[in-house]
Amino acid sequence: MGTTAETIAALKKTLGDSLCVVGHHYQQESVITHCDITGDSLELARKVADITAPHIVFCGVYFMAESAALLARPGQQIYLPETAANCVMSQMTPATRVNEVLERLNAAGRNVVPLAYVNTSLAVKAVVGRFGGAVCTSANARTMLRWALEQGDSVLFLPDKNLGRNTARELGLDASQWRILDIRRKSDAADAPEDIRERLLLWPGCCAIHAKFTPEQIRAMREAHPDCLVAVHPECSPEVVQAADAAGSTAFLIKYAAQAPQDSTVVIGTETNLVERLRARHAGHHTVARLHRAYCSHMAKVTEDKLLTTLQHIRAGIAQPVSIPSAHRAPARASLERMLEACRKAGV
Ligand code: SF4
Repeated sequence: MGTTAETIAALKKTLGDSLCVVGHHYQQESVITHCDITGDSLELARKVADITAPHIVFCGVYFMAESAALLARPGQQIYLPETAANCVMSQMTPATRVNEVLERLNAAGRNVVPLAYVNTSLAVKAVVGRFGGAVCTSANARTMLRWALEQGDSVLFLPDKNLGRNTARELGLDASQWRILDIRRKSDAADAPEDIRERLLLWPGCCAIHAKFTPEQIRAMREAHPDCLVAVHPECSPEVVQAADAAGSTAFLIKYAAQAPQDSTVVIGTETNLVERLRARHAGHHTVARLHRAYCSHMAKVTEDKLLTTLQHIRAGIAQPVSIPSAHRAPARASLERMLEACRKAGV
């Protein structure tokens, strides 16, 4: 009997073209090694649309598998090796509350257009789609926020207040033009929309992983490595982004690390699995260091063993695909397609 890795390789060979294994960059090395396609959220959303295999195993968190299921072709099935792998940030936006807040904001006569970070449930994407809004990723947030600001009086950006503020700054907005909403049911902010005049309204969510990074850690790194360059993900707080040399999506950080000069040190502030992979990839040419230890525990719920079980179940015809409630399908798809269309037009 072979190792888990060998058994997975043999099963993949048996399933051949009927199978495609897709993995997000934050997956652990023992899983990513089996993936046919890797990428960040935007790359995977695009690539999944081109896959023809009837079975797609998505190594990532639940909202990603839901998005893939939404974009899948007829007859294609999406499987998540661990359905409890969720995203803490996506859980900060219950769809019913998003719907209530949008109804109240729009009832006051303003046209408030929602812009949902892709890290949201399909139910939230459906609400956003019904209100004429769209989805965005960290790679296209600037393009999509600009798009959303052109659609109405205000934009409700959710769930990540950090990505929202960092992107707004890039577009030239300042703190007087945004407001972090208090979304508790008895809150003044959500319940008194006539007082709201800001162009950008921010849902008070964030990523617990990227919230671990601080400006003090950057200062300490600069002390230890005076010539180092620091790049962070825009899910970090605005204070961290401002203290860094650069900020950008996962795809940006990968490129940034790849372009560093020989013998330099690049410090990356994002999920540690990715940083460790970059460290190994560039070893011998330059040093890639993590800003701080920050593993996403939900991404880590997908393991090599669970991937193997999923493949065995596919082979046996008993694997359970991710299902999408039919009522969510059309409006959620509209919110995703608005993103793909706006990015196509902007050449992003
Ligand atoms: S790293 Fe943060 S945003 Fe990404 S899946 Fe984990 S909790 Fe969600």
